[in-house]
Amino acid sequence: MKPRTLLLHGGPDRDPYTGGSSIPVHQASTYHQEDPLHSGAYEYARSANPTRSALEETMAALEGGAVGLAFASGMAATSSVLLLLQPGDHIVVSDDIYGGTYRALTTLFKRWQVRTTFVDMTQPDGVRAAVRPNTRALFVETPANPLQQITDLQAMMDIAREHELLSIIDNTFMSPYLQRPIDFGFDVVIHSATKFLGGHSDVLAGLVVTRDATIGRRLKAIQNTFGAVLGPQDAWLTLRGIKTLAARMDAQQDSALAIAQYLHAHPAVRQVFYPGLPEHPGYDLHRQQASGPGAVVSFECADQPTAVELLKRVKLPLVAVSLGGVESILSYPATMSHAAMPPAERHRRGITDGLVRLSVGLEAAADLIADLQQALPGMSRS
Ligand SMILES: *Cc1c(COP(=O)(O)O)cnc(C)c1O
Repeated sequence: MKPRTLLLHGGPDRDPYTGGSSIPVHQASTYHQEDPLHSGAYEYARSANPTRSALEETMAALEGGAVGLAFASGMAATSSVLLLLQPGDHIVVSDDIYGGTYRALTTLFKRWQVRTTFVDMTQPDGVRAAVRPNTRALFVETPANPLQQITDLQAMMDIAREHELLSIIDNTFMSPYLQRPIDFGFDVVIHSATKFLGGHSDVLAGLVVTRDATIGRRLKAIQNTFGAVLGPQDAWLTLRGIKTLAARMDAQQDSALAIAQYLHAHPAVRQVFYPGLPEHPGYDLHRQQASGPGAVVSFECADQPTAVELLKRVKLPLVAVSLGGVESILSYPATMSHAAMPPAERHRRGITDGLVRLSVGLEAAADLIADLQQALPGMSRS
């Protein structure tokens, strides 16, 4: 099946009991056992719930993996995956990783003796050099947040295979519609389904897909033990969002390209970070490993006052954290997603006080461009 079809029919696509067009919200915490000696498919909702199972099966099909698992949030998913590691293990992680992942590794998992080295993953030699005898895993994010650096998936897999590392990737920015890391051999794919998969800024959810059943079983045991599972109502909302992912992503991505081109030509914008622009250093690489540039455009205003003025003047986008919704969202990494990072470290990574990130929604691109036009300094402002 083609990706668009998989979104509708990759998992259970109707209620097996009634033929209903959506899987019902199974609001039950426990299940009657006909045979007390052998439990049925469902026994207790932390272990499995039919609405959550439908989402998990759908997600496994979308990423082309063996096992899908749904968690209470993207961070619950990431933290549960990191629980595959043991005290004393070392993990090599992308320098430009989601802020919550950075915090989990540098605080909580550090206390549990998991050692982390952050490296610039756009340079495979640097990644290879960071591998130690106790390195057990590689954690990739591409495009990275918020500067959208592109990491070579094949090169990372070569290193992971060479050193027998568990290969983990956060695929939130692309969604399985645009990028399928398991096709490259990745072991574990993580999503914050709060973003593009849910797509409507109304649900917090996390999803994991494992390439093989063995890691899937280990992670399923962690899910059941640690217990950070997704509730049935939120599983249903996520399933509902997934059905329209292709239509949303296609439209949002088209607008994102138009907006990136507009910003690229704007005198008050110093630089645009979008893998759909040929000027982007990872443009060719990204085209080889993903089927589209996505719908998030970061750009650097001339200075902080220009950025702050823009955030105050825009009328259409929400000024907020998060991304991937049907409505556009404008964020300010310096005080939002990367506030926890020391300023010197943040600046070293190129996340300046002029940087803003736009998640392009389903509004008409012309309206979004007109809104940016009136909010940015230039000829239109008296
Ligand atoms: C939002 C996000 C997360 C965390 O997901 P939550 O659902 O907010 O817990 C992880 N990775 C990336 C890339 C994200 O954008």
